[in-house]
Amino acid sequence: MHAITNSGWIEVITGSMFSGKTEELLRRLRRAEIAGQEVAVFSPALDDRYGEDHVGTHDGRRWEAVAVDPEIEYGTVAAELNGEEVVAFDEANFFSTGLVDVCERLAADGRRVIVSGIDQTFRGEPFEPLPQLIAVAEYVEKYRAICAVCGEPATRNQRLIDGEPAHVDDPTILVGAEESYEARCRHCHTLRTD
Ligand SMILES: [Zn+2]
Repeated sequence: MHAITNSGWIEVITGSMFSGKTEELLRRLRRAEIAGQEVAVFSPALDDRYGEDHVGTHDGRRWEAVAVDPEIEYGTVAAELNGEEVVAFDEANFFSTGLVDVCERLAADGRRVIVSGIDQTFRGEPFEPLPQLIAVAEYVEKYRAICAVCGEPATRNQRLIDGEPAHVDDPTILVGAEESYEARCRHCHTLRTD
């Protein structure tokens, strides 16, 4: 990939929940590691726990990550780096739009930047900063899950509260709330509006 120049670039791995984004991120990181490249991974600190974190899939595979402030700034990331050629950001939808500038600067600095994140909110609307990242990236892969209701390809995240569809006016990010999610297709995705 990208053998023409030695410049950096941005790759985005996106799609709904349960679409295999994290598996794909780990696959790319492992390939880089096998090639002897140094890798740094960042995740958003969602509950004020900064420092050691990990990127993990449901089947238990994981990669060490550094949890940083979701209000992300280039200086924070640069301070953690030590010459890594590959820099990845997991759960990018939980970072502020400052992530766009961070990724652009890392790519301008000659690094391969890999970003993984959900592209739609539970309402089915664009989930910042993914739209902006997709626009500036060299490579974008959008994955689909399988609709938990009808079995069609799923692009949406169905938020459920006690088994019922969430209300359209609920906040976009609910950290630590009692809720669950299903991947659903456009037809089966629903929101409570009463
Ligand atoms: Zn469906």
